[in-house]
Amino acid sequence: MYKNNLFTAILLAGGKGLRMGDGLPKQFRPLLGQPLARYSFDFFNKCSEIDEIIVVCEPCYQPIFQGAGKPLSFALPGLRRQDSVYNGLIASSEKAHYICVHDAARPFIEETAFADLLDKAISHGAAALAVPATNTIKRADRNQQVLQTLPRSECWELQTPQVIRRSLFFKAYAHAQRTGIETTDDLSLIEELGEPAVLVKSSTRNLKITTPIDWLLAEQICASN
Ligand code: C5P
Repeated sequence: MYKNNLFTAILLAGGKGLRMGDGLPKQFRPLLGQPLARYSFDFFNKCSEIDEIIVVCEPCYQPIFQGAGKPLSFALPGLRRQDSVYNGLIASSEKAHYICVHDAARPFIEETAFADLLDKAISHGAAALAVPATNTIKRADRNQQVLQTLPRSECWELQTPQVIRRSLFFKAYAHAQRTGIETTDDLSLIEELGEPAVLVKSSTRNLKITTPIDWLLAEQICASN
């Protein structure tokens, strides 16, 4: 409970993690002896603002998430990330006011940015952690022909957690189902509705582990904690 609001965390661990180049999905590979997904699970477990946790994963990985000190349930992964989020959303308690979606491949959520994020979600309805882009971002077609250069000063790289008012989230999914919108983040669904969504400045420490290089960096960060 935070400021009279109930928060449900949806921990997304339903991906196949193929970019890491081995059989085990990256979110279950051990990082200094502990499955990657367990880091953010433990964060939400300890966090007094989070009232309920839903883990989206294949049933065979559920035993990794035992020992929660708060209501815990599981949902099955969908084909796309957005389908997995929806499965988590429908499994969430009807009493929840806000849904906090997080990629299990991001083990290092920072407390200060997270507190800021919850406040912004309460005041605006939808908010996500993000970092200002350090590279110039171009849009290109399938043949890598440049279509557009986006002004770097206006570009942000989205991270998770992304926190959305539960009722607004359902409305956004109904809209997405009608229009066939496909997204790789949660805030996009809110933008498509024309509702406000804000970014909360985070840091690159909250990295998503995608490639073997990210893994090396994560080991360094973990060892320095
Ligand atoms: O593929 P991407 O890196 O964007 O995945 C982000 C998170 O979403 C990962 O934690 C992954 O396990 C999860 N995911 C999921 N269901 C899918 C695809 C991805 O839960 N169908």
